[in-house]
Amino acid sequence: MTEPGKSEPDTLRLFFALWPDDATRAALNRTGKWLHQHWGGRRMRADTLHITLAFLGSTPADQRDAVLACADAVQTESYELLLDQAGYWRHNRIGWLGMSETPPRHVELVEALNVQLRAAGLPVDDRPHVPHVTLLRNTAGGEIPACEPVRWPVSEFVLVKSVTEPEGAHYEVIRRWPLNMERF
Ligand code: ATP
Ligand code: MG
Repeated sequence: MTEPGKSEPDTLRLFFALWPDDATRAALNRTGKWLHQHWGGRRMRADTLHITLAFLGSTPADQRDAVLACADAVQTESYELLLDQAGYWRHNRIGWLGMSETPPRHVELVEALNVQLRAAGLPVDDRPHVPHVTLLRNTAGGEIPACEPVRWPVSEFVLVKSVTEPEGAHYEVIRRWPLNMERF
């Protein structure tokens, strides 16, 4: 319940994401440390590492249930990612870890979410989805080193609230949705 005198904000900054399990997080963090030795910049904190699936941005709080319903309607299978490709973007000085091949099930999950969000009239970013984990901010980048691949078993996706703070965004996982596990 809201404390007296404290009102809930009327908009939430939301995004759907893949949130790593502890072992994957540790492996990503090691890669971040290693990439930082090559390129410099500011390392992302281990507890912030993720892959954005769909970015909603500022969303009226009263649409929260509609957003949850969109995710409830998504039925896709679990899969595995192999993050084997480092890269950086000059325009925003981000250093990231991505993949040389995106598995079809990942694309399916992103599309299924976008279909539901669009059908519900919620804002979706139309730019093509480039799956990546941001590891460095404000980096100059440089020659792209070959990197130790990180295996990420994907068994769920999450809805995250991003809170902007002076020292950078702080993320809060609001809810988790399991993906269908393969049955043998
Ligand atoms: P800050 O913007 O405060 O530096 P941040 O980028 O980590 O921090 P958000 O801007 O809230 O935090 O973004 C949350 C996630 O959504 C990040 O993974 C970010 O890359 C991604 N994101 C942000 N804006 C967009 C957008 N317009 N389209 C797609 N993804 C986005
Ligand atoms: Mg941002």
